[in-house]
Amino acid sequence: MKLVMMGPPGAGKGTQAERFAREHGVPKISTGEILREAVAAGTEMGKAVKAVMEHGGLVGDDLIIGIVRERLAQPDAQAGYVLDGFPRTVPQARVLDSVIDGSCPLVIVEIQVPDDELVRRVRLRRICARCGTAASAFGSVGTAVCRECGGALVQRSDDTEDVIRERLKVYWRETRPMIAYYHERPTYRVVNGALAPEKVRDALVTAVASAMGRDPGAQSA
Ligand code: AMP
Repeated sequence: MKLVMMGPPGAGKGTQAERFAREHGVPKISTGEILREAVAAGTEMGKAVKAVMEHGGLVGDDLIIGIVRERLAQPDAQAGYVLDGFPRTVPQARVLDSVIDGSCPLVIVEIQVPDDELVRRVRLRRICARCGTAASAFGSVGTAVCRECGGALVQRSDDTEDVIRERLKVYWRETRPMIAYYHERPTYRVVNGALAPEKVRDALVTAVASAMGRDPGAQSA
C-alpha cells in the first residue's frame, strides 16, 4: 500500500490519511506534521521553515525531499505508507517515483472540495497542541481536549483566513501541475471530499481498491 493523498488545505487529507493508514497497518507520513514538530522543538530546521509556513508558502523542495527520503527509509515504511502533504510539486513527485521500487503501484487519490467550503473548514479546524492529531480525526470536535492524548486543542498558526487564502493560491499554482503529472496513470483517482467524512472514507476505500484492481470489500477493515 503506497498511497498519496492529494488535495488543497482543508480537504480532509490528514483525517482520511490517518484513518486509512491505521486501518491498513502502515504509517501515515505527513510532511506538515514533521515540520510543525521541528518548529515546536525549535530545531535548526524548524527555525529555517517557521516564517515560510506562517505565511502559507512552500518549504524548499531540497529540504522536504531530504526529510521524506529519510522517513521512507525507516523500517516501518517498508511495507507501505500513506503520504499526506507530499508530494506538493512536480520535482517532489519525480523524486518519489525514483525512490519507489515498483513492487507495488503508487496510488494517487485527489480529494476535491470547493474553495469556499475549504476556507470555512480551515477556520474551524483545531489540532492537538501535544500530539498534532486533527480534532476531527478521532471525534474530538466539540470537546476541549484531544481524545487521543488529552492535550489541548488549538488553532494552527497558518489556519487564519489570510493565510488560508494564500495557501489556496499556492496550492493552485504549485500543486495543481502535479495533477497533470499524475492524471494519465491508471492508479489515479478522484474522490468528492465535500461529503461527510464517513462517506469520503468509503469513497476512498473504493477508489484505492479499484486503483489496485481489488474488490473494495476485501480492503476495508
Ligand atoms: P500541511 O500540514 O500539509 O497543510 O502543511 C503545512 C505547511 O507545511 C505548508 O503550508 C507548507 O508551508 C509546509 N509543507 C508541508 N508539506 C510540504 C511539501 N511537501 N512541500 C513544501 N512545503 C510543505
